Amino acid sequence: MRFYSTNSPQSTVSIEQALFHSMPTDKGLYMPTPLPRLGAKFFNDIAGLSLADIGFALSQALFGDEIAKQDLEELTAQAFPFDTPVVELEPGRVGILELFHGPSLAFKDVGARYMAALMAHFSARNDKEINILVATSGDTGGAVAMGFHNVPGVRVSILYPSGRVSDLQEKQLTTLGGNVRAFEVDGSFDECQAIVKQAFVDVELNQALALSSANSINIFRLIPQGFYYVRAYGQVRHHGKPVVFSTPSGNFGNLSAGVMVQQMGLPISHFVAATNLNHVVPSYLASGNYEPGDSVATISNAMDVGSPSNFVRLLHLYGDDYSTVSQHVTGYFYTDDETRAGMVQIRDQHGYVACPHTAIGIMGINQYLADNQQDAVGIALATAHPAKFKPLVEDVLKQPVEVPDRLAVLADQPKKSTRIPAEYMAFRESFLQTV
Ligand SMILES: *Cc1c(COP(=O)(O)O)cnc(C)c1O
Repeated sequence: MRFYSTNSPQSTVSIEQALFHSMPTDKGLYMPTPLPRLGAKFFNDIAGLSLADIGFALSQALFGDEIAKQDLEELTAQAFPFDTPVVELEPGRVGILELFHGPSLAFKDVGARYMAALMAHFSARNDKEINILVATSGDTGGAVAMGFHNVPGVRVSILYPSGRVSDLQEKQLTTLGGNVRAFEVDGSFDECQAIVKQAFVDVELNQALALSSANSINIFRLIPQGFYYVRAYGQVRHHGKPVVFSTPSGNFGNLSAGVMVQQMGLPISHFVAATNLNHVVPSYLASGNYEPGDSVATISNAMDVGSPSNFVRLLHLYGDDYSTVSQHVTGYFYTDDETRAGMVQIRDQHGYVACPHTAIGIMGINQYLADNQQDAVGIALATAHPAKFKPLVEDVLKQPVEVPDRLAVLADQPKKSTRIPAEYMAFRESFLQTV
């Protein structure tokens, strides 16, 4: 398996290069080549397999030439101690693929944990400690912190803006300890990001330490996200109908991951790209004009993206051709009022409590099935647990939302963070004291 940049498809790099240096120097995005194609027999035989089983089988197809079978088996088991079940709201018609059973209660656990396990694999071989630096506005940080916690050979430093993440999010970053260190920055998310960027171009620092990012554009966060589309297909294949996926989207990594497994042979008949008012992609799919811009704030804030970083990948996977991508993907978008109404309706009709992102996915699949009068199984991806957005969900649904134990226990843990001003030199000095 090699990786090329979308900006220069003729030259390729190794797994390690793409893993530890998320971004090609030409500012394109890494893509895997060749993508293995699995036969129908593989996809017909997976009903009883867990996410870890499927992750192992697909990892072997992808990386079996370069990573030993036993290592792949161990690292997928380590990455996926939880499953991604489909809950059928209307059996044979609409199901919800619950991706929030991991430690941080969001689908980002899947990518972060697989990437962490792979990095541990390679850093053990290289005998060289890796320092991950990441700036977070809340959501990614929790998945990365928990994904890398106790991973040997890897240290993680997370920078977050003081007072601008939710209490639960802060707990996820600051209570783990061990190899995870939190820097609480007196500044904005953008200032945190600027400090991280400066560290990556600090020549002296990079000579002294192996620095790496856990950036969301890393292709190794995307690849494992394909595994749960396969897992879901295994759970609904017995209905004998075409399968349509609806993915609540922001940066479009999750949807691109689905397209990647479709190209590996998974029989996905169609995709729905469901967004909030940040509808640059649904508008493109409807009109052919791509007009990225600033993001607007919504109640489904993990999808508030005005210029999606994985759009290039989505287009690239469909041959950079508008008519192909628009044949395979339909876009819908919803206002905050529509999202609130959708959350209430889903609860009233099915007794299901959905976070605002998940509600948008469910509304998208319902709209697609109605518009197309199609006898298909629609699966909406549930990207986060409603407890992650507890105040909002309780306000909309007027009912209490229970916080799962694995998150609730964090509330009693003491917060440990290093508070720094939003200045690079202050970070550098404090960072170097502990590495
Ligand atoms: C990150 C996130 C999304 C958006 O996923 P993309 O891969 O960026 O499209 C949707 N919902 C939730 C809850 C998220 O955390």
